[in-house]
Amino acid sequence: MVNEPQIEPDFASLGLRSELLETLTALGYEEPTPIQSATIPILIRGTDLLGQAATGTGKTAAFALPILQGLERDRGRSAPSALVLVPTRELALQVSQAFHVYGRMLGARLVAVYGGAPPRHQIDALRRGVDVVVATPGRALDLNARKQLILDQVRTVVLDEADEMLEMGFIEDIETLLSATPHDRQTVLFSATMPKRIDALANRHLRNPERISIKPAAPSSNDVPRVRQTAYIVTRPNKTLALGRILDAEDPTAAIVFCRTRGGVDDLTDVLTARGYQAEALHGGLTQDQRDRVMGRLRTGSTELLIATDVAARGLDVDLLTHVVNFDLPITTEAYVHRIGRVGRAGREGVAISLVEPRERRMLESIERATAGNVRIERIPTVSDVRHLRLQRTRDSIEELLGDADAQERMSHYRPLVEDLLLSYEPAEAVLAAFTLAHEATQGSVAAGDDGDLDAFVEAPRATGSGKQKRKGEAKFGTVATGDKPGGGKKHKRPEGPTVRLFVSVGRKAGVTPGDLLGAITGESGLKGADIGTISVHEMFSVVEVPTDKARKIIKSVHGAKIRGRKVTVRNDRDK
Ligand code: AMP
Repeated sequence: MVNEPQIEPDFASLGLRSELLETLTALGYEEPTPIQSATIPILIRGTDLLGQAATGTGKTAAFALPILQGLERDRGRSAPSALVLVPTRELALQVSQAFHVYGRMLGARLVAVYGGAPPRHQIDALRRGVDVVVATPGRALDLNARKQLILDQVRTVVLDEADEMLEMGFIEDIETLLSATPHDRQTVLFSATMPKRIDALANRHLRNPERISIKPAAPSSNDVPRVRQTAYIVTRPNKTLALGRILDAEDPTAAIVFCRTRGGVDDLTDVLTARGYQAEALHGGLTQDQRDRVMGRLRTGSTELLIATDVAARGLDVDLLTHVVNFDLPITTEAYVHRIGRVGRAGREGVAISLVEPRERRMLESIERATAGNVRIERIPTVSDVRHLRLQRTRDSIEELLGDADAQERMSHYRPLVEDLLLSYEPAEAVLAAFTLAHEATQGSVAAGDDGDLDAFVEAPRATGSGKQKRKGEAKFGTVATGDKPGGGKKHKRPEGPTVRLFVSVGRKAGVTPGDLLGAITGESGLKGADIGTISVHEMFSVVEVPTDKARKIIKSVHGAKIRGRKVTVRNDRDK
């Protein structure tokens, strides 16, 4: 087991105060990103900074945390003590939201000031008193001219995405705003690129700045492991569903799934476990002993998915992994290369899968550059792709057995039975029945109700059951859609109008049948059987399709009730 001692900077060693450390822990940030390690101590000292870094590197926290750190001594001032200039309204909202989240425990007061919206709201907030103003240059200048934005007590100015601001023609506005702030302020300039104009701006307005550069490194192709790399573009709300389909299509023996934060790890582990996957969270806080036990379970196959942050996965002996999944993209391309290096060892083929949100396309481009363009962007498998692949796998394993000389003895035990069967049935019929049994005993299917195009997956999805009871352990995302007739068989009628799916916390393992659920819902809520749509009973939970306008009533009356002696929770499937 490789577990080299690592000396990694942590947030506390950067000199951040306890309230901020507590907030970062609550957010599940386990360690600073490279730009945060480099920047935070410099900014806390009050030194000017010229930084080259792109969005997605953790740049916002790198300047927001030191600004928040310095707030206390400015309390009681009526005018803002920090001004952050950004090129667009979207970025202004994003950055002020980040300040809001990081500064919650310090009670930081902030406002986003941008054009394209009536200024009334922004002026009111400024009048009430704020600590930090995040602004686009034009509106900031306008409010400054109207004496609503007072800049003479500003201690820190941040020019974020300075190259973009110059590109958009904001240079004069920026210069005027800077001249309205005190001369001895701290000035911080971040830019993704460093053209001459940025240098000139820095020379005019920054005093002895420290320079840092966090450029996406381009490792040589030798450093990039031989791994099949696939990326899927998927919107955030669809990521879990997409992951289910991809896992079912790929059928990994052992996979590590990376999330960005500890909270993300916990949430995903819960959802995957509820859906019947053998998933375990790997926590930064696990002892070596606990990690060994997790790896032991992975080795024996009782765990198939490790859900982890980068920090938690460090130092693990992971030779047996077949797949790396970036449920969240890593923050740096180096981290990507490091993650995917965990598979494809010992000459085996490894697979790296990335779920990329549309807004992360830029990061994907950096990754493509860093891996010499070896990432294939693919369409998320459809339900029918997944079914087809599963069938193909059953066929492959039968053919494998037929071609395996060592298996002959094992199979010979069954020969008398088969010969007996063939006296009564046509060989093709007998093989068909055997194939059916073999296939139905395999793991994996798609999610209940998952028959949509994931990128356009907005309305309540419909269930796609076979109408046939499956056996325990058979399906992960398996459906037992039986409609309003427990036991199934009758063609199901969907309730009219829009429907939502309710998640009920008991399933086959608790001995629950669709009839139990139907009885509980109609009994507790007074609705009729015809009001209820498809009922899918899974191993650990169930999903019931109900009319949208009745959902609240059903949740209220069934939540907390007992089904088969078990107290159940009921919630909207979408809120999971
Ligand atoms: P930014 O480059 O500031 O836009 O940040 C990119 C994303 O990384 C944001 O979603 C942050 O919430 C997240 N983030 C920033 N710092 C960390 C960290 N140290 N650990 C985990 N996530 C982080």
